Amino acid sequence: MKPLIEMIGVTKDFIQGDNIIRALKETNFTAYEGELIAIVGPSGSGKSTFLTILGGLQKPTTGRVLLNGKPFSDLDVQEKSKIRLDSIGFILQASNLIPFLTIKEQMILYNKITKTKINQSWMNELFLKLDVEKLKNKYPNSLSGGERQRAAIAKALYHQPSVIFADEPTASLDTKKAYEVVKLLAKETKEQKKATIMVTHDERMLEFCDKVYEITDGVLTERQRT
Ligand code: ADP
Repeated sequence: MKPLIEMIGVTKDFIQGDNIIRALKETNFTAYEGELIAIVGPSGSGKSTFLTILGGLQKPTTGRVLLNGKPFSDLDVQEKSKIRLDSIGFILQASNLIPFLTIKEQMILYNKITKTKINQSWMNELFLKLDVEKLKNKYPNSLSGGERQRAAIAKALYHQPSVIFADEPTASLDTKKAYEVVKLLAKETKEQKKATIMVTHDERMLEFCDKVYEITDGVLTERQRT
């Protein structure tokens, strides 16, 4: 299996007054293609720090991140944003949708920014797969929580990133809808050979994940499952 994103010997310190807070102790982590990985842990344990360093939004204090086998965390801000735009998809708690664009316009925004051609057939395929077809001309605020998250997944997959970060993607959903969303995420991760890293508080969603990691006080450990 191909590693898509790796963290090698990463630590992260924050300085607060006279104190140094080591938010992330030395961490090694690899996500391979086809894997849906859950990250769980109490508030303040280091989940956001882990995810933002992996996604290139913060620099590690030591160590490095490789994306598709290439150095990522060492790049300058501009190079990082370019690679992030192409190689990473984000699905956020309140969904990653822009309020003043229709669902279809959100997808096309990527083509506008990158001056690339619209991939109409892939967009249609995603709309069908994720049951977003009838929502494509609507604005996010007129959709239900479940519809919004399905549209957010379509948007995250449209530009064919290798890695997807999902931060509490089921937070606003009832159990049935939450299951549907995570099952879809698991299916697309496998079929499209992505690696998806999902921060969640929701233990019920873990059965759909290939691996579960816990962070406690900045220490990441894989949970052994029976
Ligand atoms: P979680 O996402 O699990 O709630 P965080 O990664 O946000 O945890 O935080 C981990 C620790 O690092 C906490 O003690 C938090 O206070 C500290 N921390 C996070 N970001 C900063 C920052 N920018 N400055 C100072 N301390 C921070």
